Amino acid sequence: MPHILIVEDEAAIADTLIFALQGEGFTTTWVSLGEAALEHQRQTPADLIILDIGLPDISGFETCKQLRRFSEVPVIFLSARDGEIDRVVGLEIGADDYVVKPFSPREVAARVRAILKRMAPRTVADVSSVLFRVDSERVQISYRGQPLSLTRHEFRLLQCLLEQPERVFSREQLLDALGVPADAGYERSIDSHIKSVRAKLRLVRADAEPIQTHRGLGYSYSPGHS
Ligand code: CA
Repeated sequence: MPHILIVEDEAAIADTLIFALQGEGFTTTWVSLGEAALEHQRQTPADLIILDIGLPDISGFETCKQLRRFSEVPVIFLSARDGEIDRVVGLEIGADDYVVKPFSPREVAARVRAILKRMAPRTVADVSSVLFRVDSERVQISYRGQPLSLTRHEFRLLQCLLEQPERVFSREQLLDALGVPADAGYERSIDSHIKSVRAKLRLVRADAEPIQTHRGLGYSYSPGHS
């Protein structure tokens, strides 16, 4: 049974989350301070953490930063502001998702389920390391033993997708990985880079479709289609 750690200083919000998550069959622990969350995660690691950004002691951002020094546990931020800065900073710090208050607890529970599902098939990642070999120093990726001839952007893009199999990256997140500002209307260029990468993969294997399109969401690497 996945265990969820809720870090939230407002009891009413924590209560609705606990109710929704337990209704989905998760077990929960609730703490109201960032330090307590770190302590709890060291002692009895949760499978996922829901982390409020505005906490009384250290901020959710700071908590996440410290957490990442010893744990890769998935984190969903709760944000009081629908700010671009929150989102970008949150993802840079290593959050997996974020929701803006006021939110529907059911929606949060659904995201928790989605993230845990994405994390589950870890063995699949082993397969991908054989299918794809990434040589960061030479900026080279091999697919089924054959080196791909990729541009710098294509390399970065594919590397980013391969690092987290089954994770759906938005075009903005992929632009971020390329170091291109997401506000400059470049989102369409991601589509053409993906198209080009796919064509190069098909040169190796005609029916390969390891990069999946998620309509309205973005792209993922799915080893099952490799
Ligand atoms: Ca708060």
